[in-house]
Amino acid sequence: MNKKKILITGGAGYIGSHTCVVLMQAGFEIVVLDNFCNSSEIALTRVKKIVGRDFKHYVLDVRDTDSLRNVFAVEKPFAVIHFAGLKSVNESIDQALNYYDNNIAGTLSLLKVMKESQVYKLIFSSSATVYQQSTIMPIAENSLLSACQPYGQSKLMIEEIIRDIVKVDANWQVAILRYFNPVGNHESGLIGEAPCGKPNNLLPLISQVASGELANLSIFGNDYPTLDGTGVRDYVHVMDLAKGHVAALQAIESWHEALPLTVNLGTGRGYSVLEMIHAFEAASAKVIPYKMVGRRAGDLAVCLADPSLAATLLDWQAKESIEKICADTWLWQSMNPQGYTEI
Ligand code: NAD
Ligand code: UDP
Repeated sequence: MNKKKILITGGAGYIGSHTCVVLMQAGFEIVVLDNFCNSSEIALTRVKKIVGRDFKHYVLDVRDTDSLRNVFAVEKPFAVIHFAGLKSVNESIDQALNYYDNNIAGTLSLLKVMKESQVYKLIFSSSATVYQQSTIMPIAENSLLSACQPYGQSKLMIEEIIRDIVKVDANWQVAILRYFNPVGNHESGLIGEAPCGKPNNLLPLISQVASGELANLSIFGNDYPTLDGTGVRDYVHVMDLAKGHVAALQAIESWHEALPLTVNLGTGRGYSVLEMIHAFEAASAKVIPYKMVGRRAGDLAVCLADPSLAATLLDWQAKESIEKICADTWLWQSMNPQGYTEI
């Protein structure tokens, strides 16, 4: 039994809660830190229910450096997985200062306390939004980087900060994981994606249409140079993604390069909006009414990961099918139509 304690910032969130499950099932001890600005404490209760084990959590903003110091002094974590951050591309355009403050100041606060506490193992949640839009598909990790909105910029800036500190201090063992499109949920239907407010992402919107919460789905553009004209994305099951974090934790223990270990977490296989609708209709036995509307500003026709480096460096590959993704999402939606309302 592996008793290494992992501190998970943002552990009550969508990807964090699934990673809590996978870490505990892999034998790690966990401690969660979250200010619940986009999540619910109930998610943590559900994680405990799935795993059948208890763990501690701190209701804390990662920018509160003094309190964070105390958490490190008490918990003495072996490593940190840093999910805490704001993640909506659209919201970040209107709330740029808030996004830079939360994401960058939050990460600086964490890095400072980690260094003081001599905890040098870190997994950081980055995103495919750090890649330059005109890049060739599928995207390899050495593709050009640039972001055109504050959310993506904040991830890119944090990556640069991490690269700078790792370059000059060989104690750091860091993995930067660039996620493509996380979807699905734990197959129990007990935890899932439950953002505060209206979702922006395709699958939560499709599932709300299937359950009747929304009347129809607006498809943003059917004139892209793709097979059916709708946008194509690389949808990766969140349980696969969560397992990628365990693989990364194992990989950084032997990682002493001058650059952080930086890998894409995606499948390399794309699905169009129409293909996603049809897969969801098959999983839910519901009809998903949709209407074609204009393109969404800033959208790419296709966004696909080259996942080969993750296979080589982490021995990780996404395994779950689109059918499983849709079936799990439908179960979560059916069991929790309003998100986390009850324990
Ligand atoms: P989420 O919003 O569900 O989870 C983030 C968690 O962090 C929430 O529980 C929130 O309450 C907490 N949090 C935010 N700011 C905080 C702060 N200052 N102090 C303490 N807690 C704070 O998001 P998610 O989908 O689970 O994403 C996790 C990470 O992965 C984020 O950093 C996000 O940018 C990144 N990411 C997500 C996606 C995606 O599509 N979900 C894609 C690429 C990258
Ligand atoms: N999409 C859509 N209607 C919606 C939301 C999304 O047609 O209401 C499309 C979007 O244009 C993209 C795909 O679905 O082609 C995935 O969008 P999402 O926002 O989930 O991910 P991202 O575009 O950020 O990768």
